Amino acid sequence: MSSQPSQPSGIDSQRVSCTFCGYLLTEQLLALQCYPSEATSVPAGVPSDGGLTLCPDCASEVVALLTNWHTHGQPQIRTDAAIGDAYQIVASTCSFCADRTPRAGLGIELYRRVGDELPAYATYTLCEHCQSVFGEFLRSLPPKR
Ligand SMILES: [Zn+2]
Ligand SMILES: [Zn+2]
Repeated sequence: MSSQPSQPSGIDSQRVSCTFCGYLLTEQLLALQCYPSEATSVPAGVPSDGGLTLCPDCASEVVALLTNWHTHGQPQIRTDAAIGDAYQIVASTCSFCADRTPRAGLGIELYRRVGDELPAYATYTLCEHCQSVFGEFLRSLPPKR
C-alpha cells in the first residue's frame, strides 16, 4: 500500500487499538463511526463516543454483516443539527431491513475497511429496530484473541 501524506479521516493508526480485543492496530482495520440523530442514542454494544475500530479478526463477522447493508448517498452535514439527522434525511429506507423509514435513525459512516468486500467509504442509516439488533450483534461477538 502506498503511503499517503494525509489521511482524510484523520485517524492515527499508531494509536488505535481494537475496540473488542484491545490489539494495537496497524494499517489493516475496520473503522466505523456512529452518529445518532437527535431522537436516538448510540446503541448498547457501541462505545459511547460512537467509534468502532476493529482488527481484521474481530472485523470478519461485522464485514459479513455490512456487505448486506444498503449504502445511501452522502449526507449534507449541517453545523446547526446533529450529524445523524443529516443521515436520516438522505436515507429513505433503513440500510439493514430496507423496509422501514429510519426515523430516529442512527447514521453509520464506514471510512476504513479490511479486505475487498466493502467499499472504501460508505454511509448507512439504521431504523430504531435495527439499531438494537446491531447493538446486540456487537455484544455477542467475543474477542477473537
Ligand atoms: Zn480485535
Ligand atoms: Zn431497519
